[in-house]
Amino acid sequence: MEILHVSAECYPMAKTGGLGDVVGALPKYQSRLGHYAKVVLPMYRTKYLYQKEWVVDYKGYARMGDWTFEYTIIKEKSVELGFDLYLVDINGLLDREKIYGYDDDTERFTAFQIAVVDWVSRWEHRPDVVHCHDHHTALIPFMFQYCYSYQHLRMVRTILTIHNAQYQGWMGWDKSVYIPAYDTWKSGMLEWNGTINPLASGIKCAWKVTTVSYSYLDELRQESNGLESLFEYERGKCVGILNGIDADVWDPATDSYLKAHYTVDTISEGKQKNKTIICQQFGLDVKKPLIVFIGRLVGEKAADIIPDAIKSAIYHHGDGANYMVLGSGDPFLEEELRRMAVNFKGVYNSYIGYDEALSHLMYAGADFLLMPSRVEPCGLNQMYSMRYGTVPMVRSTGGLKDTVVDMGDIDGYGIRFNHASVDDIVYSIGRAIRVYQDKTHFNWMRKHMMGIDLSWENSVQQYISLYESL
Ligand code: ADP
Repeated sequence: MEILHVSAECYPMAKTGGLGDVVGALPKYQSRLGHYAKVVLPMYRTKYLYQKEWVVDYKGYARMGDWTFEYTIIKEKSVELGFDLYLVDINGLLDREKIYGYDDDTERFTAFQIAVVDWVSRWEHRPDVVHCHDHHTALIPFMFQYCYSYQHLRMVRTILTIHNAQYQGWMGWDKSVYIPAYDTWKSGMLEWNGTINPLASGIKCAWKVTTVSYSYLDELRQESNGLESLFEYERGKCVGILNGIDADVWDPATDSYLKAHYTVDTISEGKQKNKTIICQQFGLDVKKPLIVFIGRLVGEKAADIIPDAIKSAIYHHGDGANYMVLGSGDPFLEEELRRMAVNFKGVYNSYIGYDEALSHLMYAGADFLLMPSRVEPCGLNQMYSMRYGTVPMVRSTGGLKDTVVDMGDIDGYGIRFNHASVDDIVYSIGRAIRVYQDKTHFNWMRKHMMGIDLSWENSVQQYISLYESL
């Protein structure tokens, strides 16, 4: 099958979170199964763009409202990623340093989608599946179905994967002129609660919709930022498929970001070496259990309660543990987390910013990874931590519920709690400190979770079966 993934992120070209990881891995594993998987994303000015060689694949013109623009499709030359990576360049609109966060993001991603649809419409053949990811690409199924110029793509199967339903790409009806001329009787397929809602449109128009875990799909019917009844109505076309992790990138035995590699047989020495590097760098005590948080500093991740939770844990458990935060996001939280590093020197430290290498070192060197998320569609951090023998401490929600078994249950290896609250976190930290002292149990948990199969192979097969069912 020929599968075209359309996305705003794809590791290592562009990543701000799990979406990038998934779109960087899924096509690779689909190619390994003998399918022809490609990815297309906007041409941002990232490091990867300048490191690689690119060839021009296609140049064309398209319209957005009354603006006619030229777009260029370039392709990565070496195919080192294990799939063909294409970028869309639209001068002045997409070629920027950041992925998101500009005032004209609506225009940027709408023009990107128009360019992709236009490009595909020029192919001499049709792809078997166009797989869209999140709201930035969710207007494509509508365009295939109802835009007059692209009617010949009607029968191309479209899939929408929802990595995060909180963001939906809302735009006012004044922007409907951006969408290539369409059958206005079908305006309802764009609309939700009085605005154009690209994510809702994708759910209505895609042939199938997937979410990145089973529990997340259930939760979306209860709470999905206004789309609850739509998920209920469309439940027949929705499927939960758990993400895997890219074992080529995330393997403590070969991880290129690590100096000290280890396997399940050398886990104690390996993790100790990595922990020593972190503790030396951040002034922490290597003898204490190291509890870390890695992620976007936003409400969904319950990052707002992290400062109070750490302060309260230090108050209740003394210097029984050390804490380290890596993240960026809310400026007030960033400031608070920086300030705490001065007040709690030797017990807590942080790195505010985005640092891929440090994140790998932390998965390898930490003893526990804290994820109190309010919403977690799948969550990759807990899976990386398991692969690196770091005990996940998670709130029972979404994908965290589907992947972590509490150490109190049969064969359990993690710590689960119910509420994104300071009390639940502090209590869980107490459990962590106790199990850390029970070396036999702790080492069993570490080794057991390293052996759990979290690879993509299984999930990729589920995607392929889904495509085939269409
Ligand atoms: P989300 O996509 O909601 O942010 P996921 O758990 O699915 O959450 O994926 C998060 C990914 O982003 C992981 O690979 C994690 O290591 C990475 N990440 C998040 N914040 C940072 C950061 N500040 N520095 C490095 N990596 C980060």
